[in-house]
Amino acid sequence: MTPITAQRLNANEHGLRHEEVDSNALDVVEQLRAHGYEAYLVGGCVRDLLLGLDPKDFDVATNATPEEVKDLFRRARLIGRRFRIVHVRYGRHIIEVSTFRKAHVADEDEDERHHADSGLILRDNVWGTLEDDATRRDFTINALYYDPLREEILDFVGGLDDLEHRRLRFIGDTRVRLREDPVRILRAVRFHAKLGFELDPGIVAAIPECAEHLAAIPPARLFDEVCKLFTCGRSAEIWSYMAPTPLRHALFPCAPPDDPLALRAMSNTDARIAADKPVTPGFILAVLLWRDFQARTAALGEHHRPAEARAIAAADTLAEEQEIITIPRRFSQFVREVWALQGRLEHIRPKTAAALLEQPRFRAAYDFLVLRGETGEPVAEAADWWTAFQEQDQAGREDMIRTLGKAPAAPAKRKRRRRRRAGAPAGTAVGAATGNAEDQG
Ligand code: ATP
Ligand code: MG
Repeated sequence: MTPITAQRLNANEHGLRHEEVDSNALDVVEQLRAHGYEAYLVGGCVRDLLLGLDPKDFDVATNATPEEVKDLFRRARLIGRRFRIVHVRYGRHIIEVSTFRKAHVADEDEDERHHADSGLILRDNVWGTLEDDATRRDFTINALYYDPLREEILDFVGGLDDLEHRRLRFIGDTRVRLREDPVRILRAVRFHAKLGFELDPGIVAAIPECAEHLAAIPPARLFDEVCKLFTCGRSAEIWSYMAPTPLRHALFPCAPPDDPLALRAMSNTDARIAADKPVTPGFILAVLLWRDFQARTAALGEHHRPAEARAIAAADTLAEEQEIITIPRRFSQFVREVWALQGRLEHIRPKTAAALLEQPRFRAAYDFLVLRGETGEPVAEAADWWTAFQEQDQAGREDMIRTLGKAPAAPAKRKRRRRRRAGAPAGTAVGAATGNAEDQG
């Protein structure tokens, strides 16, 4: 292989200010250096600092092996198998330290063999030099190294030029790099949205093939990547881009391409992130899988009691999605609870309304109901009722509940029988008004 040389820029040339570097990341680099290792900041943090953005996290690359890194830092933990790295912890803050690695051999047949017998696991842990490490990275703009001691930027792959021209370009041949790791297409879409950089036509053209190859990616890894897509603060743009492409079908085959509920939920999520409010991937999953859940519930409704139909539908919808992305239990549970609460929010019962407010999932379920109302489902009135209910003080709430009680609903105890006989549910004022009341079983 021909040796590659780095373009080196000093502080006056690159404009990255040393003070902007996270002090913990700086500490990691300094300690590694003090022990005779090479160490640089690399990846998203260098890219973002050069763009004047606030980096999400700081990654360090070094020629020390993971074990050597671990020995140096008291609060260090080895993680990953396919890709072994070290997490160095400073309070709640984590610095990721990865060892210089070599790229896979870009021979197609060989690559496929290694995929087939999961040889990739080993290959991603073949240590290399700084130059090797630069060329195995995905995009040129993600392969810039910052040496905080000399305040110098090293660029082996033309990343600075691409950064300046706002281009997202793979290092090496686009098709080869995407075959090596089809997840990179999702990273491309994410950076395209996050940075507002052009996707070159070669990347766009590769989308259908990549979408097909995503089927070979372990569901746990896809979950991580999907989380990044939806929690990077640009989920609405990302989904608008992906939804009409085969990428949507590869990741969420049951989600309609043009669901206003999804777009609205994502805009809200992005706004929450911009306001530094917490978000959960569970909410986005609940939204993307909602139509499938609804359709299944309706189909099952012919032979099952409503509550039963909903439980089976939720299990089926989630199980099918789990074949593609692993949904950790805490999130699938969240989705189930938000869905289950929809019925109870739509059909307000005087006896349980106040208690619902205390449910841990009430807020998420209420937000979900509001979004549904805003995007055309006949639940806006119920959503308004809950909005008002939350704003009332104790006396006001009791009043609202009393008014509910005056609606043409049977006393709670007799509800079920009445409903069966009538063939229609005994709605509360709101439930009846939505024309969508049903048994809560
Ligand atoms: P951000 O953290 O802002 O989402 P990032 O570029 O730092 O963006 P990470 O997932 O933190 O993304 O990865 C750190 C770096 O590791 C990347 O900048 C890139 O150099 C390299 N990298 C990550 N994933 C891949 C991949 N699939 N193929 C090649 N290189 C990768
Ligand atoms: Mg990063």
